[in-house]
Amino acid sequence: MASRKKPAAKLDKYFCCPFCNHAGSVDCEIDRKEWFAVVKCFVCKERYSTKAHALTEPIDVYSEWIDECEKANQGVDVRRRRRDSYA
Ligand SMILES: [Zn+2]
Repeated sequence: MASRKKPAAKLDKYFCCPFCNHAGSVDCEIDRKEWFAVVKCFVCKERYSTKAHALTEPIDVYSEWIDECEKANQGVDVRRRRRDSYA
């Protein structure tokens, strides 16, 4: 028991996917040479990439993805409502 290794990475690198809602399926990679970050879901293959900087953490990239998803969803919603109003 005492020799049991601690997990190398906490779960804070893996997130719940906003598309398929699969918990822990989103992985984040930050490239600190090219300064970009990618989050991707290995279940539904959705992905999002953005610029990274020295202080970028996986949770920041994930949060940005969620924000973008919400914006996109709102856009769809607005268009749909407008179309409905013509019907
Ligand atoms: Zn997914």
